[in-house]
Amino acid sequence: MGLLSALETRATSQVLGPPRDPVIAEWFGMGSRSSSGMSVTGDTAMKVTAVFRCVSLRAQTLASLPLTVERHIVATFAWGGAAPMPAHGDLPNGYYFRPEGDELFLMGPLHEEPNVDPDDYPESLADAEGADLAERVIRRVPALERAETRGGWASLYDVSPDWQPVIGEIAEGVFVDAGTSGHGFKLAPALGRHVADLVVGSGTDPGLEQFHPRRFEEERELDAGFGEARILG
Ligand SMILES: Cc1cc2nc3c(=O)[nH]c(=O)nc-3n(C[C@H](O)[C@H](O)[C@H](O)COP(=O)(O)OP(=O)(O)OC[C@H]3O[C@@H](n4cnc5c(N)ncnc54)[C@H](O)[C@@H]3O)c2cc1C
Repeated sequence: MGLLSALETRATSQVLGPPRDPVIAEWFGMGSRSSSGMSVTGDTAMKVTAVFRCVSLRAQTLASLPLTVERHIVATFAWGGAAPMPAHGDLPNGYYFRPEGDELFLMGPLHEEPNVDPDDYPESLADAEGADLAERVIRRVPALERAETRGGWASLYDVSPDWQPVIGEIAEGVFVDAGTSGHGFKLAPALGRHVADLVVGSGTDPGLEQFHPRRFEEERELDAGFGEARILG
């Protein structure tokens, strides 16, 4: 039997069933063409379905985490003739502040913000939002009364119930490192290696355990948060 007829037998035999290889199936006009143009046989369809099922289960596991999404603004200002001020946070007035290059300073709020749809939220700074931050800093530093608005932007905080990161294995082989609640940038160098150790399973730092999301079910939330403005920057 030649190679081609062997393949044809393989592809069409009732005994052997449909060919496993979609390319071979396509040669012999078998299988169905998917919207992406691939030929799909009963065999490969099972595999694809299994992958989607797996992705869907993973997504459900991740979606069960108690994380919310808040929109947070950043506003920039020119000094307006005032002497530059150092970076600071003002808890009573509810803002953080730092110089941005030589010409500008930037500010953001220290309080919680409403939840938003992460796929549909205003990414620009509204005039009233910039004005509100300006009022706050002028209460603390009257010399900034002549500061000039230079626009700003808004982005997202992924927020956990205690405003601390959520890190751990949440299902077999599924690791989460999220919920950094607006202060994950400074934590990244310290946490990066520990999170990598967790994923590859090599000698995890016991200090990471307190960040596992099971702390919310077990009512062992960490003692920190923006609620009472205990996190700055
Ligand atoms: C306005 C604002 C101010 C902040 N100020 C501070 C601060 O002062 N100090 C501080 O420590 N932290 C601050 N943060 C928080 C800090 O930026 C975050 O905690 C940190 O960036 C989180 O890091 P990450 O790597 O977990 O996520 P990210 O930095 O969000 O990185 C995730 C990356 O994944 C990409 N991505 C997403 N989905 C997909 C996909 N499906 N496929 C491929 N890529 C994808 C994204 O594009 C992104 O590049 C601030 C955040 C905001 C919004």
